[in-house]
Amino acid sequence: MRAWPRFCVRCAASLAHIPSTMSKFNTDTICITCAEEEREAPGYRHAVEIERLAVLNGNNNFQGVGLSPEDVSFLAFKRADRKAVPR
Ligand SMILES: [Zn+2]
Repeated sequence: MRAWPRFCVRCAASLAHIPSTMSKFNTDTICITCAEEEREAPGYRHAVEIERLAVLNGNNNFQGVGLSPEDVSFLAFKRADRKAVPR
């Protein structure tokens, strides 16, 4: 098994000091902020439902449905927004 990544695949945040998780869409390891943004993505409910069905059918190694172009651009907008708003 490969080592847990040290940086968020999507926004490059260091995962040394912030929680990380696996994407519901694919096998990306992402930071908690990216995970929260992912929950608002257009395909999120679909991705979660398909994963649930895969596990129900005995597939515990489901790789995810993947990100649609809509999801990719949605998440890109969210990340751009994050940088634009200082906090
Ligand atoms: Zn991130």
